[in-house]
Amino acid sequence: MNAEIIAIGSELLTPYRQDTNSLYLTERLNQLGVEVIFKTIVGDNREHLTAAANQALSRADLVIFMGGLGPTEDDLTREAVADALGLELRRDPEIIASIERRFASRNLKMTPNNAQQADVIAGAVVLPNAHGTAPGQWISGKYDGREKIILLLPGPPHELKALFDQQCMERLRAKLPQQFIATRELKVAMMGESACDARVAPIYKRYQDVQTTILAGAGEVQLHLKARAASLEAAQQRIDELAEKLEEELGDAVFSDNGDSMEQIVGYYLQMRNATLAVAESCTGGLLAERITSVSGSSRYFVGGAVAYSNELKTAFADVPTDLIAKHGAVSREVAAALAEGIRKRCGATFGLGVTGVAGPTGGTPEKPVGLVFHGLASERGTEVVERSFPGDRKRVRWFASQQALDMVRRKLL
Ligand code: AMP
Ligand code: MG
Repeated sequence: MNAEIIAIGSELLTPYRQDTNSLYLTERLNQLGVEVIFKTIVGDNREHLTAAANQALSRADLVIFMGGLGPTEDDLTREAVADALGLELRRDPEIIASIERRFASRNLKMTPNNAQQADVIAGAVVLPNAHGTAPGQWISGKYDGREKIILLLPGPPHELKALFDQQCMERLRAKLPQQFIATRELKVAMMGESACDARVAPIYKRYQDVQTTILAGAGEVQLHLKARAASLEAAQQRIDELAEKLEEELGDAVFSDNGDSMEQIVGYYLQMRNATLAVAESCTGGLLAERITSVSGSSRYFVGGAVAYSNELKTAFADVPTDLIAKHGAVSREVAAALAEGIRKRCGATFGLGVTGVAGPTGGTPEKPVGLVFHGLASERGTEVVERSFPGDRKRVRWFASQQALDMVRRKLL
């Protein structure tokens, strides 16, 4: 079974509101083995809505409409779907009574416009909405000779989630052949998408029954694997086998195979080694500390550090010699090493990280262009420095730098 999701609401076509409901539904549908083949966003316009409904019905087995079920003039979903299906709407007195009771329980009187929420498409099963006034509707039948399921769901996310989980999941499952889905997510550090794909594509192409999706981010490539089979064990076995081969190819570039973030993995390794970490950040401005401390329990391995942005504070907080800065510049291999060593000593930590670079967009020079970052990692056995030139805007450069620094700690602890 495949699905199309239609999000309805003119606000979803502005820069101010996003269609988040469809992400939730897609995750749920995927769990059932239903693939979403189209997502459509339509404004509150009856003609456009009917056209979108007709198009969706012509190409998907399951069509989910969400939003536009409220009491106001611009809530047109029921009418438009009824038009597209060539079915009548009838007003359900029981729904009116339940909306009236809902208002009465809050000492309010129902205004007449609420009555349209009781309009039900002929033959639909009414799905009561425990968190709002507009119920959902489930219609199944033949459309142009093909079996279809059509769902109308309320737009407010908490209403949609509860209604879908409680009343649609099992109903849908009953309509589907028994199948099981296993998923796995590999995360790869500091490798470009194309470089990664060049290495893994020859492997995953041999697993036609496993869906492999590559998602690239700054300093991280994710490989999402998904397999379906008649038993969970069979599906699991297929993705485990592929994951093993991919990990073999990519080696220690793979930092997680269960969805953990880089900062979680680093924390995990530090704890295993009973080690602690301190940071001296220049161009990342606290991002590194923010990421590390976003992990609950990070106090067990993160001692703290400094945002040493000015030259003076690089000296005051991390004992970077002033003549070192004068000689090599604040953005240099030497200063990155000194930041790492200085903060490690000052904080009494097992490891010290120092990051200094040009985040841009201003401040670059021919010798030290925007994106150039030096990352120092100091331990009792010495200091290593990695120099990188990152692409992108300020935000991306800083994220890349934090990722590189964390990855150095991870590799050190492997
Ligand atoms: P409606 O059911 O059209 O009256 O929508 C009620 C409210 O739900 C809207 O004002 C939005 O804030 C929210 N909403 C509607 N559709 C979506 C959607 N697809 N994703 C996230 N929020 C939504
Ligand atoms: Mg709306």
